[in-house]
Amino acid sequence: MNEPGVQEFRRGLRAWLDDNDLSPGPDHSLDGQVAQLARVRRALYDAGWMRYGWPKEVAGLGGPAVLRAVLGEEVATRGLAEPGIYSMVEVLVPTMISYAPPELAAEMVPLLLGGREQWCQGFSEPGSGSDLASLTTRAVPRDGGWVVTGQKVWTSLAQYSQRCVLLTRTAPGHGGITAFFVDMDSPGITVRPLRTMHGVDEFAEVFFDEVAVPGDRMLGRPGDGWRLAMDLLPYERSTCFWHRIAHLYTRLDRLVAETEDPDDAALGEAYLGLHTARCRSHLTQRRLGEGGRLGPETSVDKVLLATAEQRLFDTARDLLPGVIELAESPWRAEFLYSRAATIYGGTAEIQRNIIARRLLDLGRD
Ligand SMILES: Cc1cc2nc3c(=O)[nH]c(=O)nc-3n(C[C@H](O)[C@H](O)[C@H](O)COP(=O)(O)OP(=O)(O)OC[C@H]3O[C@@H](n4cnc5c(N)ncnc54)[C@H](O)[C@@H]3O)c2cc1C
Repeated sequence: MNEPGVQEFRRGLRAWLDDNDLSPGPDHSLDGQVAQLARVRRALYDAGWMRYGWPKEVAGLGGPAVLRAVLGEEVATRGLAEPGIYSMVEVLVPTMISYAPPELAAEMVPLLLGGREQWCQGFSEPGSGSDLASLTTRAVPRDGGWVVTGQKVWTSLAQYSQRCVLLTRTAPGHGGITAFFVDMDSPGITVRPLRTMHGVDEFAEVFFDEVAVPGDRMLGRPGDGWRLAMDLLPYERSTCFWHRIAHLYTRLDRLVAETEDPDDAALGEAYLGLHTARCRSHLTQRRLGEGGRLGPETSVDKVLLATAEQRLFDTARDLLPGVIELAESPWRAEFLYSRAATIYGGTAEIQRNIIARRLLDLGRD
């Protein structure tokens, strides 16, 4: 297939997925999910599907970025991979394409897209989450390279990752943040998984003790780290969201099927929340497709999606009595995880501040 259009891509993909069963096995643990993700990525990459929508410089097959939204939607709708971890490529690959030396991006990106590696994002620190610019993990120049010392926290999938996109401090202020692409098996790195309230070691503390990083692993130039972080955030809120919304629709369908005493008003509200988030995300996809640069307006997408996700699982709690409070069910795990939707990728309060100040021009107070 040569740079297919959306309809042609979707038709071909669906036929291929019908013929190639990538359904997950019975192991729903995080180990199982990560292994399944690698299996799905590998199969989709080897068959070419995972390469569409990415540029040829990183072994992509070209075509519009929306093809990646279509692929993720099919993966989510068929329940082939957990959408959160599947979508991490949507954040990490554009960052590599924009900031890594071209030969590094060309070497590394196919490993991630092809399911040969997992990567993580080392931004947050114990004292620096919303106020990311206060981060203190420092990198100092030594022998033509850099030496990194400090601590990250909430680093998703760090214990499975071969590489990390890491923010460090090389000088004071926003202009003193520098990003590196670090091998996770470098001497001096210790990973300690942390358990979430839904009972999974999804993220970790990562300690850096005098970790040597070669000079050619810098992403961008010294001081580009803040710009990289700001460029990356909108990616967390575009194609990733399209995938997540597709996943949430499968949960709404399941809820309708499992509810013995349907409350049409509550289900209608849950549907409306999802539909609104999807319309907004559709607009964002259109803007991306037209070459638009995404910025603070994606905070609206974040608020709408987090609200819709929590409303959906609140509705499940109300309509499936006891299934969340009293049973170790998949509903319970997803209900608990949905509470994090207003935290990860920028908290709900911070998004509302951005909307008020930068979109509505309401001033600092
Ligand atoms: C499931 C999950 C996965 C994650 N994965 C990663 C990852 O892979 N890599 C990574 O780097 N990070 C990751 N994070 C961390 C995430 O980015 C941070 O949790 C988030 O940025 C918030 O930072 P914090 O936890 O330090 O909270 P804080 O910034 O300490 O905020 C605490 C509370 O104060 C509020 N608050 C803070 N400042 C203001 C303000 N100015 N105005 C109003 N309210 C304010 C916040 O809204 C929040 O309610 C993950 C988090 C979760 C939950």
